[in-house]
Amino acid sequence: MQLLSSLRRVLIGFEGKSSPLVTAAIMPRRRKHGGKTFQADGSDPFALQNVVKKIESFAPRELAEPWDNVGLLVAPTTPVPIKRVLLTNDLSEVVLEEAVNDVSPQLIISYHPLIFPSFKSLNSRNWKERIVSTLAERQIGLYCPHTAWDAVEGGVNDWLAGAFGPNATVGPLKHHGGGANLKAVYALFRNAEEADKAIADLNSALSCSVNSVVQRDGKICLKIDIENEYLCLPYIRPALDVHIANQQTVSARENAGVGRMVNLKEKITLQQAVELVKGHLGLQDVAVAVVPEEKYEESLIQDIAICAGSGGSVLKGVQADLYFTGEMSHHEVLDAVHKGMHVILTRHSNSERGFLQIAKEHLKRLMPEIEFVVSSKDKDPLETK
Ligand SMILES: [Zn+2]
Repeated sequence: MQLLSSLRRVLIGFEGKSSPLVTAAIMPRRRKHGGKTFQADGSDPFALQNVVKKIESFAPRELAEPWDNVGLLVAPTTPVPIKRVLLTNDLSEVVLEEAVNDVSPQLIISYHPLIFPSFKSLNSRNWKERIVSTLAERQIGLYCPHTAWDAVEGGVNDWLAGAFGPNATVGPLKHHGGGANLKAVYALFRNAEEADKAIADLNSALSCSVNSVVQRDGKICLKIDIENEYLCLPYIRPALDVHIANQQTVSARENAGVGRMVNLKEKITLQQAVELVKGHLGLQDVAVAVVPEEKYEESLIQDIAICAGSGGSVLKGVQADLYFTGEMSHHEVLDAVHKGMHVILTRHSNSERGFLQIAKEHLKRLMPEIEFVVSSKDKDPLETK
């Protein structure tokens, strides 16, 4: 109750003014101090928290689907400066071997999450448990963006839409709406110890994203992005000051959302569409299902519905001339062609992996001090023989 009344006081105090905490959080300049590079706000660019913050400035976790398990899934027990990051679509045992023996990263970004809430033990009984145990033993962090990268503007689905060139309009099949009520809670802590405890408590108890900024006087300001701000109050009780603001970053992303619809200004044939997809993804072959009674070489395409990965459920019921996704079940394909939609399937991860090079460029621009390496071992498990 005491915190609630002090919160109300803080809110009244801040009304109509620009919060100094907010100002500190949005000034990302760099400066040198004692041979070490720091951001203008005093934060260390190699600190894991900062790297996560930068990753999420490209694609916030809030863009991910509610069922997904995205974000920092494994963190070292002691702080390790992040100098090199390995990017992979899937963290298989082969890719882990590449990480340990060749690349030596302090952080792995694996597009697909390795851990879901069904994970109940770490007994090395299966490959996923072995991988997580090895990461923990070797102090390697693991970040998984998955559907946040699918949804974000300029993400995986927009990269797929790029196959059809600039002569088209592109928009999400379903716009992201989760950010409409998102709040930013700024909490000021007197020292790193108190702030770290609050971060750990918040991350283990709630679905929220937490970033920290060191103030000039050594105090730590936490920015907590959360839908229901009152849920986080018990975890920030020791805070000296609390300020709540409406969050603009996610709701302003009006071009983010599930899947994409491409409307071509000029129609192309199904055959041309297939060639464009193969060229864009660097594939020798794709699987194609043609609508009965139509011809592969002649059938004209204007609207293309796209979904990275497994598109069956997202594309179900969507009207288009063509579905373009990684995989669909036999029955989903049959259903689509009988409803008048041609289908291009690339195999699941072939519709995702090529984005790693684009992600690498985005991340390098955000974190020029850090080396990003795309895995050379990561590949789709299915091959054509
Ligand atoms: Zn996938």
